[in-house]
Amino acid sequence: MPKPRILLLYTGGTIGMVKNFETGALKVFNFKKLLQNIPELKQLDCDIETLSFEMPIDSSDMDTLQWAKMATIINDNYDGFDGFVILHGSDTMAYSASALSFMLQNLNKPVVFTGSQLPIGDLRTDAKENLITAIQIASLTQDGQPAVREVSLYFEYKLYRGNRTTKISAEHFNAFTSPNYPALAESGVHLKFHKEYFLPATQYKPLQVSFDFDDNVAIVKMFPGINAKVLSALLNVPNLKGIVLETYGAGNAPSGDWFIGILQKAIERGLHVVNVTQCWGGRVNMGQYETSTMLKKIGVISGADITTEAAITKMMYLLGQNVPHSNFKELFETSLCGELS
Ligand code: ASP
Repeated sequence: MPKPRILLLYTGGTIGMVKNFETGALKVFNFKKLLQNIPELKQLDCDIETLSFEMPIDSSDMDTLQWAKMATIINDNYDGFDGFVILHGSDTMAYSASALSFMLQNLNKPVVFTGSQLPIGDLRTDAKENLITAIQIASLTQDGQPAVREVSLYFEYKLYRGNRTTKISAEHFNAFTSPNYPALAESGVHLKFHKEYFLPATQYKPLQVSFDFDDNVAIVKMFPGINAKVLSALLNVPNLKGIVLETYGAGNAPSGDWFIGILQKAIERGLHVVNVTQCWGGRVNMGQYETSTMLKKIGVISGADITTEAAITKMMYLLGQNVPHSNFKELFETSLCGELS
């Protein structure tokens, strides 16, 4: 049996950063040095090829063009490799993993995002375990097929569905969680897969990549004290097409006429409004409280248990596909690749 072939793509992030001795700030460095720091990679039972963004970035500079670059590299190398590992800064990794899950339709190979909290050269780094296990996961096969055939994120002993993740700590190695969906695998003495949570296998279809995103969107987070002037200004941004409204608890928002009136006018103008909870976990259930009943009535879309990261990328993706206005709500409320339930 030939060894699995893995493409390791470095986009940037702490994992490959070094300290600028003058300022003390972390900056990205040459990817080749990253591999010099991990001779252990040679012991893995797979062939690894590496690629790097020409200009690796701190993931705070992530945007739709960088997503297109990642998707193009996967598309161009799809037939030549059995799995893909994307090294990415942790700050926006959950957004990129969500975006790629929508872009890569009919994916039947693993795309595993990982990174680290400490640079790979640091004595106490978490990078080596994250990188080595991510590669092992990407190279695992079952009955001659890749074991995990979706966009996932591996960090600190857990493999998650990428579009279910959120970054929860700027300090702990355990930086990610998946509040509303169980881990797909856990790494301990053994690598334990929870196959019952994988996306169901579908009939083989060629990979199809969608590159179009529409960034005329915004995230609007509710807070006690939000006023009509502010909300109105946000919703009247020229060419704005959709907002993700981060509401309280199970999808609740101010019930005053001024609030509902501004939202209703925006929806009548054609703006898509998606309700997600600003809670760490749980789901939106419009109509459970009076404070969300009106939202449902005026046509606000339910984000159910989707993360804000997946909601905003799904909105940009659906708008980019020019989904007819009348289908948008139904499509958003439908799971496209396991992002909501
Ligand atoms: N600022 C870094 C980034 O997201 C943090 C990290 O890599 O974890 O690129």
